Amino acid sequence: MKRLEIPTPLSYNECYPRDEKSMDIEKVKAQVCHEVEARRPQLNELSLKIHSNPELGFEESKAAAWLTQYLKENGFSIEKGIHDLPTAFRGSYGKGKPAIAILAEYDALPKLGHACGHNIIAASAVGAGIACKPAIDRLGGSILVIGTPAEELYGGKAIMAERGAFDHVDIAMMTHPGSHDTATIQALACQTLEVEFFGRAVHAAARPEKGVNALEAMLQSFTAINSMRQHIKDRARIHGIITDGGEAANIVPAHSAGVFIIRAEDNAYLDELKQKVANCFLGAAAATGAHLEYRWGDIVYAPMRNNLTLAKLFQKNMQSLGRKIKLADPRSGFGSTDMGNVSQLVPSIHPMVAIAPEEMEVHSPQFASLAASDAGSKGLFDAAKALAMTVADLVGNPETVARIKEEFQRGK
Ligand SMILES: [Zn+2]
Ligand SMILES: [Zn+2]
Repeated sequence: MKRLEIPTPLSYNECYPRDEKSMDIEKVKAQVCHEVEARRPQLNELSLKIHSNPELGFEESKAAAWLTQYLKENGFSIEKGIHDLPTAFRGSYGKGKPAIAILAEYDALPKLGHACGHNIIAASAVGAGIACKPAIDRLGGSILVIGTPAEELYGGKAIMAERGAFDHVDIAMMTHPGSHDTATIQALACQTLEVEFFGRAVHAAARPEKGVNALEAMLQSFTAINSMRQHIKDRARIHGIITDGGEAANIVPAHSAGVFIIRAEDNAYLDELKQKVANCFLGAAAATGAHLEYRWGDIVYAPMRNNLTLAKLFQKNMQSLGRKIKLADPRSGFGSTDMGNVSQLVPSIHPMVAIAPEEMEVHSPQFASLAASDAGSKGLFDAAKALAMTVADLVGNPETVARIKEEFQRGK
């Protein structure tokens, strides 16, 4: 009896010979760029509307409504208030694998408004998601535009990561406006610390010997931390402010308070540094007799793990738009971002897109103006195009996705 031969299905590479396949992806890339171009007015309007209605973390109800509305009008299915966060959302298009997430931030800063340019992040994420629909239709996969609130103040992505928002995501990407074009960033692990000292108030001249000076305890803590600073690792950072230093110069301060931020290159060194910093406060309490109370912030920002395979794809796509984008200079400055927490779970990138001159810093009033300027719009459109082109690369090349995942696993 003749055995029935079941033919194995042809792989993508067999269906599409190499050249034809890459030509196909190039055509799709041209198409996704065209999709962004076609939506310039709407994307710009979305960005400017968010910019002129700044909302603080977890209060971004207008921005979330505008963004989800636009996604819905463009064929995305929408889930609002995901993971018990009223201003978080997920827009989905397609059902296949890989599932690629583009993350949107849309929170503003107290007093400064959109001085971090999150209005541009939001509009470019939504624009990229919509523009890459032809890539999903033609090459498969699915695209998720995930709205992640409260980056600045509460680490929304860290909370969402803990609650499983990225469990079924294969790759996560976002862009952030800045003063350089870089495909990678350096972001440190980070945690905040609130400190209070309680002393005893007396007349500062009449009976100083009866007082316990809570301000002196705080000042000694600063001195101890500054002494320690010369013996900590290069990239670690400790910085703080005094939020209460007493009532009047003729009263020995009975209360002092401060807020500190401790940052390190990895979580292990962050833990070590936290203990050393706590010892500075404990020592100051012992020296002055003030009572110490301190609380670590709930959110630990994880360091950013840049996926280099993914970053280089994005870099190439940005270069095709005429931007001289590099990988981040190891000597350049570094902060922290809740995208670090996402990057610990799935292969991720957080490239910076220049909308400002090199010397200008985010979180300044000047940067807030640029976030609503022509340079800001150009950054928005370029970011949307490069993200959408990178999605085309990913859904068109299963082997590239495999390499990205391999790199991620190797770095674990
Ligand atoms: Zn910021
Ligand atoms: Zn930001």
